[in-house]
Amino acid sequence: MNKSPFISKTKYIAGIQCHKLLWHYYNAKEEFQEVDAGTQSLFDQGHLVGEYAKKRYPTGIEVSEDIIAFEKVIEQSKQLISKRLPLFEAAFRYKNAYARADILNPAGRKAWEIIEVKSSTQVKDIHLYDLSLQWYTYKGTGLEIKRCYLLHINNEYVRKGEIDPGKLFALEDITSDVKILLPEVEGRLEKMIKVIAAKKYPKIEIGLHCNDPYECPLQEKCFDYLPRHNPLTLYYFKGEKAFSLINDGVTDILKFDDSITLSAKQKIQIQSLRSKREYVNKEGIQSFLNKLAYPLYYLDFETIGTAIPLFDHVKPYQQIPFQFSLHIQASPKSKLEHIGYLAEGKDDPRPELLKLLKKHLGMKGSIVTYNASFEKDKLNKACEAFPAYREWNRKIQARIVDLLDPFKAFYYYNYKQEGSASIKSVLPVLTGKGYDGMEIADGGTASNEYLRVTYGEGVTEKERKTVRKYLEEYCELDTMAMVKIVEKLIKISNGKVDYS
Ligand code: SF4
Repeated sequence: MNKSPFISKTKYIAGIQCHKLLWHYYNAKEEFQEVDAGTQSLFDQGHLVGEYAKKRYPTGIEVSEDIIAFEKVIEQSKQLISKRLPLFEAAFRYKNAYARADILNPAGRKAWEIIEVKSSTQVKDIHLYDLSLQWYTYKGTGLEIKRCYLLHINNEYVRKGEIDPGKLFALEDITSDVKILLPEVEGRLEKMIKVIAAKKYPKIEIGLHCNDPYECPLQEKCFDYLPRHNPLTLYYFKGEKAFSLINDGVTDILKFDDSITLSAKQKIQIQSLRSKREYVNKEGIQSFLNKLAYPLYYLDFETIGTAIPLFDHVKPYQQIPFQFSLHIQASPKSKLEHIGYLAEGKDDPRPELLKLLKKHLGMKGSIVTYNASFEKDKLNKACEAFPAYREWNRKIQARIVDLLDPFKAFYYYNYKQEGSASIKSVLPVLTGKGYDGMEIADGGTASNEYLRVTYGEGVTEKERKTVRKYLEEYCELDTMAMVKIVEKLIKISNGKVDYS
């Protein structure tokens, strides 16, 4: 370990989250889980957001891209200060603190204001800690800091033509909140230095902080001792209660005693696990099946939602459907028909998607989705943007049925679901088939891969085609899974499967 380590804002934030995490940053970073594609995509979006933020300050100077040679960057920052122009990533060191402000903006004749750019749509507590370290560092080096701001994404912005950096962001003055934290910075840094210098990491219990403010990259290591059926796997039990039991040594839900208050569903989960049997409420299943009217339309969307809207009439992070899979079953005995759509090109996929849906969803029959609020919302938003479909959408919405309902209600529960009602958990236990072996096996990856091969650079045509094939396979499996689940529910309700 470095004898005189710097604590940058990333490390300071890590130290605010957990001292054990901080220790690993300096002493055993190799133990961190690899950054997954979803996190990488967030980093990439953050970088793009940063680029748009800089456009608000056209006279701004990029101090240096070379993060490794920090002494050089510090030197260059000192020299550029005299220019009295906005500086991007100006770096300063004071004692053990090292900070690079996204934007250091001149205020009046001598002072400066710190502007931190974030991809979030609001100020979060962790941003205040971040800014307090920056303020402390700059002030320590002799800069006069007047105010500090968070420049975050304005979620009311609607793209019309070219992105307008003036409207894409909201500038919030957080000076007074950051000032409250300033007196704590030095003490926190001193404690952090001691943690970093220790031979062994501090003993810290797992808890809510493992996901707050960020998902900790050491979870695999820290959660490793938990048995498979631990309190975190209990349906809607996550949170303080689960961690408090775990840290009191109650790590196995099979060892819960009567003093622990559980909901009816949680009791079913434990009972099913204990007996290794499914729980079936045939009346409940029948009541769900009674809602289904043929023809059945099994529908699933995949979506993208970017911080910088890709199309006109779209807000930041608005989820835009780019793909659907539709399995149609005209009657209980008829063959399945499949229709898939995956947007080609870089234009807004919604006009074509809506046109095809209108063509194929017919005038009557249930539209079966899994977690219907998602599909309902995407349709509503798409039809708001394309008003010609509003009346059609009103009728479509009334036909949507949620296949998640019987599982959320625990009309069927299998201990192998491990407290989850998601389609990925339900499909294998009901049909013996699952998503294993799929190149794309979750919505997040589908979204990232579509963005990458559609809008990214350096993707070959061969790779693009391959990824599109994977996307088609994945989305089709989602609707086929729903078909199979409904088939199984029908068999259970008919008493053809002995589950009791
Ligand atoms: S998983 Fe939790 S306890 Fe472990 S290092 Fe991360 S935040 Fe700390």
